[in-house]
Amino acid sequence: MSHNIAIDGPAGAGKSTIAKKIAQKLNYIYVDTGAMYRAMALFLLRQGIRPDETEKIDVTCEKADITIRYENGEQVVLLNGENVNGLIRTEEVSRMASGSSANPRVRTKLVKLQQELAAKENVVMDGRDIGTCVLPNAAVKVYLTADVSVRAKRRFDELTAKGENCNLAEIEADIQKRDHQDMTREISPLIQAEDARLIDTSHMTIEEAAQAVIALC
Ligand code: C5P
Repeated sequence: MSHNIAIDGPAGAGKSTIAKKIAQKLNYIYVDTGAMYRAMALFLLRQGIRPDETEKIDVTCEKADITIRYENGEQVVLLNGENVNGLIRTEEVSRMASGSSANPRVRTKLVKLQQELAAKENVVMDGRDIGTCVLPNAAVKVYLTADVSVRAKRRFDELTAKGENCNLAEIEADIQKRDHQDMTREISPLIQAEDARLIDTSHMTIEEAAQAVIALC
């Protein structure tokens, strides 16, 4: 049986950076589930659908074939065969992903893919519902969080480093809106699993936070 590590938490808590470090250290596969919701969001945006058009999302999401593969240790998300890694990190896709991920059909489809991956390999998987729903029997569960202002600043620095023009206050407002949507949706809302360890990374470096998680493994 595979040995799995579940990392959940709100946007910008440092989940993906930390999960990648742990996967490298333990020689596990890193699975970024947010990227799958983002690929689905990109597909829906391309069809001209808005986040609140539930019925259209219901029908259209079935036409998206989302798979992942690994190239040089990096997760590549394929949307109907197309590598969309370079297209899913925009704020527009973030917003759509937060809206469309509340849709039961979207979740059923992607959770199945995630569970299949975790059954085959030892994984470090990050997302919003990994410890509560996708991998309830994960060997280690962590809930990573940080103050919203810290998370917004991290996102701002990340985007600025990529040369994108952005506004800190807007990013913080967007994160707050996304968190609220993710935490209050009916299906698989973002909550700390009862058996997850809470780690607040507000005053930690990424290295310190990664060490704290590795200590639990
Ligand atoms: O983690 P990331 O910010 O890339 O996720 C984008 C969006 O995908 C989140 O805001 C959330 O709505 C959704 N998501 C989810 N369940 C997961 C991972 C991501 O609903 N396991």
